[in-house]
Amino acid sequence: MNKDSHAISISDITTRLHVDPQKGLTYDEAKKRLSYYGENKLKHKRAKSSWIILLEQFLDPVIYVLGIAMILAFVFTEWLEGFAVLVVILITVLIGFFMELQAVRSIESLRKMVQTMANVMRGGNIQHLKSNHIVPGDIILLAPGDLIPADARLIWHQSLAVKEAALTGESNQVDKNPKTLPIQTSLAEQTNMVFKGTVVVRGNARAVVTATGNQTHIGQISSLTQEADKSRNPLEKRLHQLSRWLIGFTLILALIIVVSGYLQGKDLFLMMKTGIALAVAAIPEGLPIVATIALAKGMVKLSKQKVIIKKLEAVQTLGETNIICTDKTGTLTENKMSVHELVLHDRILKSADFIDITSLRDLKSNDVFTKIIEVAVLCNNMGSQGKEMNGDSIEIALIDFAEKIGYDIVKLRNQYPELEEIPFDAEQKIMATLNQNKDQYTVYIKGAIENIIEFCDTIITEEGVRPLKDKEKWLATGNSVASEGLRVLAFAYKDTENRPNISEFTKKLVFVGLIGFLDPPRSDIKQAIKTYKDAGIKVVMITGDHPDTARKIAEEIGLLNKDDVNKKVIHGRTVHISEKLDSKEENKILNAKVFARMIPKQKLDLVNFYQKHNSVVGMIGDGVNDAPALKKADIGIAMGIRGTEAAKEVADVILMDDQFTSTELAIRQGRTIFGNIRHFVVYLLSCNFAEIIAVAVASLSNLPLPLLPLQILFLNLVTDIFPALALGMGRGQDGIMKQPPRTPDEPIITKKLWISIIIYGLSITLAVIGVTVYAHFVMDLSAKVVNNMAFFTLVLAQLFNVFNIPHRHVSFFKNEVTTNLWVWGAIGLSLLIMLIAYYIPLLELVLSLTTLSKEQFTIIGLFGISALVLTQIIKRLGGTI
Ligand code: ATP
Repeated sequence: MNKDSHAISISDITTRLHVDPQKGLTYDEAKKRLSYYGENKLKHKRAKSSWIILLEQFLDPVIYVLGIAMILAFVFTEWLEGFAVLVVILITVLIGFFMELQAVRSIESLRKMVQTMANVMRGGNIQHLKSNHIVPGDIILLAPGDLIPADARLIWHQSLAVKEAALTGESNQVDKNPKTLPIQTSLAEQTNMVFKGTVVVRGNARAVVTATGNQTHIGQISSLTQEADKSRNPLEKRLHQLSRWLIGFTLILALIIVVSGYLQGKDLFLMMKTGIALAVAAIPEGLPIVATIALAKGMVKLSKQKVIIKKLEAVQTLGETNIICTDKTGTLTENKMSVHELVLHDRILKSADFIDITSLRDLKSNDVFTKIIEVAVLCNNMGSQGKEMNGDSIEIALIDFAEKIGYDIVKLRNQYPELEEIPFDAEQKIMATLNQNKDQYTVYIKGAIENIIEFCDTIITEEGVRPLKDKEKWLATGNSVASEGLRVLAFAYKDTENRPNISEFTKKLVFVGLIGFLDPPRSDIKQAIKTYKDAGIKVVMITGDHPDTARKIAEEIGLLNKDDVNKKVIHGRTVHISEKLDSKEENKILNAKVFARMIPKQKLDLVNFYQKHNSVVGMIGDGVNDAPALKKADIGIAMGIRGTEAAKEVADVILMDDQFTSTELAIRQGRTIFGNIRHFVVYLLSCNFAEIIAVAVASLSNLPLPLLPLQILFLNLVTDIFPALALGMGRGQDGIMKQPPRTPDEPIITKKLWISIIIYGLSITLAVIGVTVYAHFVMDLSAKVVNNMAFFTLVLAQLFNVFNIPHRHVSFFKNEVTTNLWVWGAIGLSLLIMLIAYYIPLLELVLSLTTLSKEQFTIIGLFGISALVLTQIIKRLGGTI
């Protein structure tokens, strides 16, 4: 059916598909067809199966090194050690597996939350359904911004134009109409068909679905070229790099220790095992996976706050965002409009004059007043068939106003039926209709004042139509209405005897007047703007609206200060952002915070411009025309309720509650996650560094080994990993939104952090070597007891090391680590495990533990805490971050 649908007449096609084009399919029939044809979705590559995730855990350098250690142990018939290492391998693999599985699954379920929706006629009613539930034979209704949900044949249309680049590669929009075409018409020329995956850019239409899912044209193409596998996200890549670098470094160090130990006459096997254990100790297990887990956790947390992140890496980019471009209407303002002011040739009516709108009823006999209402009602899509869903609040306000005064909308529309329409377009900023009244035709038009006034040469007055001489005065009046923060629309019309063609709609019009609409700023925006200012993020308003309206609203929300030197609002017509600019012009754009009368293409240019100037740009948009800019921005943000399907499709972030303030949550989360990952990495690396240096120093200086290979493995699985994971769950630093954004090329570990890692690590090493020397030389204890004391000191010092992580500028007692209950839980758990190990004979054997005296434990405690005290002293003196 799909292949030749364009060549079949509308009545034939609806008969073949057994559907009533007025009422659509019945609910029962739709249900039956859904189970027969299946869901209307493209078959994507299956998500990673659990088996693959499990197997991938083995493909890790940590496991390779452990595997070699295990084989060596078995070869040397050290059964106990061999099995112990095997258990460690299994535990490492299982922890990695469950964590990754959980992360992958939660990302998948989030993806399912963003479903494309479509308007479908079923059982005589319009339904807003998930596109997946559309079946062949369904009657779909299309409006600007809709993503076409399936292949369909047009039945009716009004100025429909579609962008089909996704299917044909053609970037220009294609005008559509339902006329039947010859069978041999190529796909790109099938103007009576609309195709899944393409976007409505103008007009409205009804169409009957001819194919769904993989039967659609895009389905057939995409089953050939399936979406390539997603590569690792940038953060994961960087962590992998770090991991590889550390492995190389440790292997070299391990080799040096083995060789020098051997030369000192130590047991070769013990030295080899120590070397391998050292290598394992230094490799930060789970370093790369922790990024995925942290990012996925962030996504889930945000989804509970009605912010849907579509791509994992977006969480990271959010933390780097330093410019947020936003539109005005509906994002910064309520988008609840009401008529606030009317300006006609001889009078100005302000809302104070009509607190009770019905008091305006007397004006119904006034020709000029009646004319403006006539234009407002007839050049208006609200209330007409099926379009209520995409309500334009300015048009709703006009209908509401007319009805309250007592005009009968239906009667007016029946009296002057609409023949043709130029739909509102953000570029032209006008809308026009052609209506008929018996044998006379009337063009009604409304839009931006500077455009409408250009088309007019006369004005309606009570004495009849007169020449329009004072255009400048009208423009000034428009500015003054706008400077009250009102949105301004101008209205005009013309009567003609002959039916004009579309190009004549805008010629020789009669000016009627202006209406100002009140659309107050949202109450929470002021605070949000302030938060962004503190966070070093610049908010830029890009609006299609009048410069004076934009300025007033910007002032009200605190985007522009009363005495702002950059108060200048840039007018879209005066900037040519895509061209080569001199530095003066560049600075003008870089300093501006408000751009008015901008067309959608300029939004894209501005994103490009900011990116060229090293900014990470977040762009908020909702119209179909915003899609390119949303895609180009580093973070595209679409509104869940108000946004068109096209905008939601390309966005990285969807604000389900349409609240601008939610972007703040998302950015805070992005910053927090990066901070947590940093904490995690710094903690792990400093612990591992301490282990390596302690063993290296001891073996090179011929001291008893403070750590045995299995002890190191045990440490890494217990004392390192739990506190590290707890750090990854932190709620973020206080004042995280008071710092400037991170630059994208800033490494995870900066120079200062490397210094901190070394200092934390060396303090721990000092405590361990200190206790070894003290126990060996002063207390003169056996090698086993010396080793045990060093081991326990290390455990304690590593656990205390979490308290070194917060910045030196925050209080030691009250900070993001001490208030993180996970951290306390992790410390408790680690101590409990140590206690169990101490008392369980098998573990005691594996870890070569022996019974220690109270005095020995006191010494362990003192040395353990001394590492923390030492680090804190250095920290407070400014030696670390
Ligand atoms: P933003 O881009 O911040 O959302 P906006 O919604 O005011 O701003 P547009 O919707 O592009 O931007 O409107 C720009 C101008 O077009 C308005 O100032 C108004 O003059 C005119 N306009 C808006 N809606 C209509 C409409 N339905 N019919 C005719 N003209 C309109």
